[in-house]
Amino acid sequence: MNVLVINCGSSSLKFQLINSDSEQVLAKGLCERIGIDGSLTYQPAGEEKVKTDKEMPTHTEAIQFVIDALTDAQTGVVKSLEEIGAVGHRVVHGGEKFASSVVITDEVYQAIEECNDLAPLHNPANLIGIAACQKLMPGTPMVAVFDTAFHQTMPQKAYMYGLPYEYYEKYKVRRYGFHGTSHSFVSKRAAELVGKPYDQVKTIVCHLGNGASVCAVENGKSVDTSMGLTPLEGLVMGTRSGDIDPAILEFIAKKENLDIAGLMNMLNKKSGVFGLSNNLSSDFRDLSAGAAEGNVPAKIALEVFSYRVAKYIGSYAAAMNGVDVIAFTAGIGENDGGVREMVMQYLGYLGVEMDEKANATRGEEITISTPDSKVTVMVIPTNEELAIARETVALI
Ligand code: AMP
Repeated sequence: MNVLVINCGSSSLKFQLINSDSEQVLAKGLCERIGIDGSLTYQPAGEEKVKTDKEMPTHTEAIQFVIDALTDAQTGVVKSLEEIGAVGHRVVHGGEKFASSVVITDEVYQAIEECNDLAPLHNPANLIGIAACQKLMPGTPMVAVFDTAFHQTMPQKAYMYGLPYEYYEKYKVRRYGFHGTSHSFVSKRAAELVGKPYDQVKTIVCHLGNGASVCAVENGKSVDTSMGLTPLEGLVMGTRSGDIDPAILEFIAKKENLDIAGLMNMLNKKSGVFGLSNNLSSDFRDLSAGAAEGNVPAKIALEVFSYRVAKYIGSYAAAMNGVDVIAFTAGIGENDGGVREMVMQYLGYLGVEMDEKANATRGEEITISTPDSKVTVMVIPTNEELAIARETVALI
């Protein structure tokens, strides 16, 4: 079956058409600047990508252009919509309502809407994508795959904040965690690669991309993760601060005359390695190049980032009373051997021994610890779209 995987943002929409039998990507692409002017980037497998300007006042036009491209007589990869058996939608926040993926019904749509409060930038956009697909592909089954669902197995001690209990009761303020599709995909693959049953292995997944989070997966279940109510908590990220002393907010608000919106903008967009590097860049390639040229803030940004990752690994090894596998994934985790090495330098106490040659490779599935290492350390490229396609097929 062919599954259309949709990841919809407020003004963008990423898509992949995946054949679920061969698990091959038939075509992929991106609609950008929806509601502003609009463009479609389309790439059938094995061919060059082509970007075309297209008027896209809403997501409905964007999805129509995607369908037109996929079914086009020349550049299309399927003959008609009939050859698309299902649509899998990435949905960011499922709150406490969704502990797994679900087939989208009217009730499910409403329940997702009720989670909008928890992810006001993401969930409404995800729902717009679902509604647009439902309009243009009536009768095609659709599935919602949540970033938060995998973490619903966390015990209460891991997801409660030290705040008044009534905020949990009234507003559901708690840790939810994100990147669940990736943490689940990578931890499953890690178990396969070390040849252990998924329910008998302790894995720490470090999803290090522009957004970054660490997850403790004990016997196939997420037991703790570094992102919280929102994706702002935890690691130092590209432009997000991660953990800080909450009292800094009042201090900076007074000094810089910032309101709540100004503070949130600073924490989300101006902080992280971007802020730490004195606005040099949020991209680790630029930071490494800068550090190599003697740029001190760039070097500090890399050190702070790696140190924070190592501290989370330590705390999750403690939470699980041990760890069998540590897996690096996402843009930085898969490609930046320098950062991986900086993190692993802190892990000697766990018996981690790095294989230097293996760690020098980029973007491939590989074990980067030595055969003698007490913990197996791996690079496992994530594939959230494939994970969404698999979930979709499993449900319908
Ligand atoms: P993601 O959010 O998973 O797409 O990761 C994006 C980030 O990965 C970029 O902002 C870079 O910091 C990082 N990245 C991508 N390619 C490389 C590379 N070759 N070396 C180091 N970092 C990279």
